[in-house]
Amino acid sequence: MSLQEIIARIAKAEAAAGRPKGSVRLIAVSKVQPNDRVEAVLKQGHRCFGENRVQEAAGKWPAFRESYPDIDLHLIGPLQTNKARQAMELCNAIHSVDRPKLAKTLARLAQEVGQCPDLFIQVNTGEEAQKAGVIPAEADDFVAECRSLDLPVRGLMCIPPVDEEPALHFALLAKIAVRNGLDGLSMGMSSDFETAIALGATHVRVGSAIFGDRVKPEE
Ligand SMILES: *Cc1c(COP(=O)(O)O)cnc(C)c1O
Repeated sequence: MSLQEIIARIAKAEAAAGRPKGSVRLIAVSKVQPNDRVEAVLKQGHRCFGENRVQEAAGKWPAFRESYPDIDLHLIGPLQTNKARQAMELCNAIHSVDRPKLAKTLARLAQEVGQCPDLFIQVNTGEEAQKAGVIPAEADDFVAECRSLDLPVRGLMCIPPVDEEPALHFALLAKIAVRNGLDGLSMGMSSDFETAIALGATHVRVGSAIFGDRVKPEE
């Protein structure tokens, strides 16, 4: 699969869902991909990327930004509070706001720095013990708490359980977003981004379908 094919499939899914062209943003997930593959995608003109570890992002993106200053970098993996400052300096958006302690830290840093990346609240729609995110029943309260901290909450994010029908989880996330007046929906990956677009995704996070299989293991 190539970047151009994925872009074409996104356009087709937007049209099929009766959504405006360009309403879905493609985040090319470049975690653990070799730099030459990332550079190839940059050379084709794509600028929006996702990483799931702050450390890895810090080692990779400042150099790319020197050549491509308009890069739009999204952190999509779990964020420890002690890495929050670095994440805020490095990233344009954070998709993994998942607990009050992190929200408070981001709020304090945002006051200090005078700016904050766009934030997405991660919802653990499958209520899986090993997965980050607030459970659906606590999502409304957590959205309200983030807003009371003046955080720029743009939307919600989820990662459905691997063995379940993703559409159910996308629909649940969309429902929680609507009742909270949020229009950003970060959902859909290589195997299910068209389903996610049909259910309202505004940001799809696609890795292996663009870059090929990840060559190094994820920890
Ligand atoms: C790795 C990752 C993706 C991309 O997964 P693919 O299946 O390679 O498209 C999307 N979202 C998150 C949170 C990820 O960690």
